[in-house]
Amino acid sequence: MNRKEYRKLLEDPKWKIKASYIRKRDNHTCCRCGKKSKRLQVHHKQYIDGLMPWEYDNSYLESLCSTCHKKEHNIKPKKSKVVKPKPKKEPKVKKRLIQVKLIPD
Ligand SMILES: [Zn+2]
Ligand SMILES: [Zn+2]
Repeated sequence: MNRKEYRKLLEDPKWKIKASYIRKRDNHTCCRCGKKSKRLQVHHKQYIDGLMPWEYDNSYLESLCSTCHKKEHNIKPKKSKVVKPKPKKEPKVKKRLIQVKLIPD
């Protein structure tokens, strides 16, 4: 599923209901910095392949302000400045938005 498709899913009323429930549960408070806002974004702590955004257990979801939410999605290990030249024949790998992690039963 690409980013565009995922965005569409977040327009689904099923997700909107779930997200508003999570925001209420978290008392409209950002789980990271404690900022109060009526416009918090609901973040999936973990993505599970094949699961619709609204099918997650509530424990996988948390309310974040946009600043913390951005941070949450920008966690990259610091790259060293030495960049290896890529071999030209390497096929382009599309970045996947969704991280697949399997959870044992
Ligand atoms: Zn925050
Ligand atoms: Zn998120």
